[in-house]
Amino acid sequence: MEKHKRAKMWLTHPYKWGQKYSLWPVHFCTGCGAIEMPPTMLAPYDASRFGMGPMASPRQANLLLITGYMTTKTLKYVIRTYEQMLTPRYVLSFGSCPIDGGLYYTSYNTINHLEWYLPVDVWIAGCMPRPEAFLMGVNRLMEEIEAGRADGYKRYEENIDYYRRNQERTLGKEFLAELKQVEWLT
Ligand code: SF4
Repeated sequence: MEKHKRAKMWLTHPYKWGQKYSLWPVHFCTGCGAIEMPPTMLAPYDASRFGMGPMASPRQANLLLITGYMTTKTLKYVIRTYEQMLTPRYVLSFGSCPIDGGLYYTSYNTINHLEWYLPVDVWIAGCMPRPEAFLMGVNRLMEEIEAGRADGYKRYEENIDYYRRNQERTLGKEFLAELKQVEWLT
């Protein structure tokens, strides 16, 4: 049955298979989770088995990994990076900090709700999630892509006023003005 389902999907939605098995994370890490990335990408976890390979340039990547807490300064670079990426693009966030601030909930310079600024497709809870949890998150993202539910990039475009308001509140008008000067937004 499963075989038939997959054959039907291949025939009717080959592009979804392409998207599902072509995840290119941009080589950009935030917070403590950066430490988990080398073992995840290399042996013994070997993330390339899942069709993943880190890309140096956001313009050639479609997966943004938020690997831990984010300061307001880092958030600026994360938003710039996200907006340069190809669509469909996905955000996978791990660790408690991007969800609700985690250990840094009361910190004056750490953001505690990533979802206010960028659309997240898959969350992985924990402090810090191990590589196994990260790969489970990747599998979950693949399922969401296959089901057509990994639509964070559409939410971003449709609700851009909401995201811009939150970005301006935290990062200031100057940041939005800088963004507007950048070629990919004009
Ligand atoms: S969730 Fe824990 S491990 Fe991850 S960034 Fe926050 S404090 Fe660090």
